[in-house]
Amino acid sequence: MSADDGRDGSTAEEQPSHPTHDPHEGLGARLNWLRAGVLGANDGIVSTAGLVVGVAGATDTQSTLLASGIAGLLAGSLSMASGEYVSVSTQRDSEMAALALERKELAETPEAEFQELVGLYRDKGLTPITARRVAEELTAHDALTAHATTELGIDPEALASPWSAAIASFVAFSVGALLPLLAIVLPPEHWRVPVTVVSVLIALILTGWLSARLGRAAPGRAILRNVIGGALAMGITYLVGTLIGKVD
Ligand SMILES: [Zn+2]
Repeated sequence: MSADDGRDGSTAEEQPSHPTHDPHEGLGARLNWLRAGVLGANDGIVSTAGLVVGVAGATDTQSTLLASGIAGLLAGSLSMASGEYVSVSTQRDSEMAALALERKELAETPEAEFQELVGLYRDKGLTPITARRVAEELTAHDALTAHATTELGIDPEALASPWSAAIASFVAFSVGALLPLLAIVLPPEHWRVPVTVVSVLIALILTGWLSARLGRAAPGRAILRNVIGGALAMGITYLVGTLIGKVD
């Protein structure tokens, strides 16, 4: 007994399509990847900057700063990578389950599936004759792909890979985290915090601008929010670090 039995007739109307899987969105998808990379780098910059500036508030020891910066870089990038791996794997599992169901329906009720496809093409604006013709030709060519792309918004040949998503987040976060890490360990002692704060704020202007442009938003507010967020992160951890350093 299945709760879904009563819905079989109306799935064509009720299936939400996934806007991110539009086959004509090759450029858009690439820009989304790029934007995800910029945001990942931004995370790496802010979280590592907060960490090393906080530790610098408490101690002058360079090896401690280096160790905490490296630990922050690795902890952050590994956590981003495993989070991304889990999330993309789950998405992939549900896409594979949807494809398996579609394959089963095609095998068991091909005529109903054909009518469903005709209905979907009519919904897209094709005339009944053209919709039928398109459905006939695509069903003859590759019925599963026709249903997957039109009905589920999934391209069965291009399911997202959990490993590439994980590696991409690892790299993006690490690249961002390297900036505050180098800025806190390379300059002479009294220049460490000012050099880190200034270079991090400049980098946040750049990532704020880039992510806004890639998301087609106005850059002004994005830059402001990004810079304020980073400044707060460093200000708060530096204050806490200084207080703890005094307790010692
Ligand atoms: Zn179908």
